[in-house]
Amino acid sequence: MSNLWLLTHSRSSSFQPTSIRDNVRPIPTTNLLTSENEMSDLPNCPQCDGEYTYEDGPLLVCPTCAHEWSPAEEAAAAEDDATRDANGNVLENGDTVTVLKDLKFNGGVVKVGTKVKNIRIVDGDHDIDCKIDGIGAMSLKSQFVKKA
Ligand SMILES: [Zn+2]
Repeated sequence: MSNLWLLTHSRSSSFQPTSIRDNVRPIPTTNLLTSENEMSDLPNCPQCDGEYTYEDGPLLVCPTCAHEWSPAEEAAAAEDDATRDANGNVLENGDTVTVLKDLKFNGGVVKVGTKVKNIRIVDGDHDIDCKIDGIGAMSLKSQFVKKA
């Protein structure tokens, strides 16, 4: 009788942790790994735009077209497309810049030293869109400004 009680008791107490573990299990480890992989921001293959790129030491490898490349070089190449100020610093949306020379435009001049806040990088000959206090919306050339 006491043996049976022990058996039942020990069974129910060992059942409890198992059931808790079962309740936790609906998020399998494999799912966590998968979503982590999806979140990793390996770039697509620059040759075939394949999305199954993986890291192989310092290189990235595309299994689709067997292209291998260095992400560091890619980043450097991408940076060369960036809009830069007179000193070669990369300019980004929202940056504040200082005008390096008097910039004449129809009806006025943007004086040297004028601070321009919250610039917007655009394509084109005048690659900065901005709003200058007391003047209004303007387009500037990045080579005539420096990052403040
Ligand atoms: Zn590829």
